[in-house]
Amino acid sequence: MRWENGAWNWGWRVIIGRVIGAVERGRLRKAVETRRGISEPEPQIPNDTFTRLKFGGEDTLRPGEHLFSSHTLTDDKFHDHCGVFAVYGHPEAAKLAYLGLYALQHRGQESAGIAATDGKRLVSHKGMGHVAEVFTEGALAGLPGHSAIGHTRYSTAGDTDLKNAQPIMVSCQKGQVALAHNGNLVNAVALRRELEGRGDIFQTSSDSEVILHYFARSKQSGIPESVADALDKVVGAYSLVMLFKDTVYAIRDPRGFRPLNLGKLNGSYVVASETCAFDLINATYVREIEPGEMLILDGRGLTSLRFSPPVPHAQCIFEHVYFSRPDSLIFGRSVQSSREMLGRLLAREHPVEADLVVPVPDSGVSAAIGYSDESGIPLRFGLIRNHYIGRTFIEPSQAIRDFGVKLKLNPVRSLLDGKRVVLVDDSIIRGTTSRKIVRIVREAGAKEVHVRISCPPTVSPCYYGIDTPTRKELIASTHSVDEIRRFIGADTLGYLSLEGLRQAVDDKQGRYCLACYTANYPTTVQEPLLAARNRE
Ligand code: SF4
Repeated sequence: MRWENGAWNWGWRVIIGRVIGAVERGRLRKAVETRRGISEPEPQIPNDTFTRLKFGGEDTLRPGEHLFSSHTLTDDKFHDHCGVFAVYGHPEAAKLAYLGLYALQHRGQESAGIAATDGKRLVSHKGMGHVAEVFTEGALAGLPGHSAIGHTRYSTAGDTDLKNAQPIMVSCQKGQVALAHNGNLVNAVALRRELEGRGDIFQTSSDSEVILHYFARSKQSGIPESVADALDKVVGAYSLVMLFKDTVYAIRDPRGFRPLNLGKLNGSYVVASETCAFDLINATYVREIEPGEMLILDGRGLTSLRFSPPVPHAQCIFEHVYFSRPDSLIFGRSVQSSREMLGRLLAREHPVEADLVVPVPDSGVSAAIGYSDESGIPLRFGLIRNHYIGRTFIEPSQAIRDFGVKLKLNPVRSLLDGKRVVLVDDSIIRGTTSRKIVRIVREAGAKEVHVRISCPPTVSPCYYGIDTPTRKELIASTHSVDEIRRFIGADTLGYLSLEGLRQAVDDKQGRYCLACYTANYPTTVQEPLLAARNRE
């Protein structure tokens, strides 16, 4: 048997790979512990530090050199849970839903689905991947009818699996119903246990399904009453669209965590998480669905009902900071205006002598415009983003430092060389990506790098439909601003204050949720969720 023998060589690589992997993992752990003891603060090493090698179908994690690898790109950003869309009374309802979902793609890229009705029965089509991949002409032709609802999903509750793709469609004694949900229920685990204890069988592992179970179980005879009955049980964030044979429901939870908007297209009504979906189909924005409102769209027009007594509102402020598209109106405000104001206030709170304001694209662009306008320091696009990378890619055999970030962002050396740079971004989550970006800017010749963040330090995880790391992985939960500055390698670091954040969205009445900056949650959160987000 010789080294060149492929099968033999492969077998030994498997064994050697596992042994070296185990030894190296130990070494790396030790090295990290040692570094922590003697120098700058080091947060938990995230998974993207490792390269995942696949040998014979098994995974071995090994840092450093490798033969080949499939690298998963993590972007150290919060991710929204989902986007929802609905249309009532249009002959091409499914096609409009498809276009609406297209505009909402940024809110979820794991799966997409549409359910439609022709007044006699509901049909649906769902798949994993982007909207353009899931829907073909043929798939849309199989969704006839005048009304439809659609969903794009990024999982925060439930596994990444086709069975969790939405809309969830069921038949019960009240007829066929489909549901699409943006948000997260904070008591779903307990409710599900209770329902399973009573013999209910769930078809998904998603929190949204409990609403349908309580709807089906309701003793009320009317549909609106049964929906209200179900919503009475759940706590948390939900912007819902529901489809029945000849009716569409649009519902927002009493605190209004997630956005939901009403639009009009000729004689038809449309509903969407963000108004950018209306622009694509030439619909006009009418208004927000109010927190605690159940809006029924049917042959009689619009019927607005209140399904819960009023409670203090808790609209997610992060929708304005990062999640929503800048061309959307969210909670009745222009996201672009909010972000520019965040940048202006940031410049007032954290001025610095510098030559250039450089946004971290795309999320830092609007705030950087505001910072530049307010400070008078010229704005330059010193980092160029590659928009055409997927979630995984093949790395070269020689390790390249900061490869993942370089794949996404490339510095413009001719702009940065010898300059004092203000680098503007919307948030620092783990700190690892910010550190790589600062290093890239320095390596391109920047003389000084001053990082400015257009929100306060993110110290707490979200339970309301945003995919966040655990508390321990959030660098600001355990490190001071100066420790973070040293970790990311910036000359100075400035975060916008909480007062500045509220001022930027004109929040005089305390209508926003600020929990990821304050840890003051607007609802109680049940133990299983708390444990999951606070785990080591
Ligand atoms: S905790 Fe943060 S991300 Fe979650 S709803 Fe509140 S403000 Fe938004």
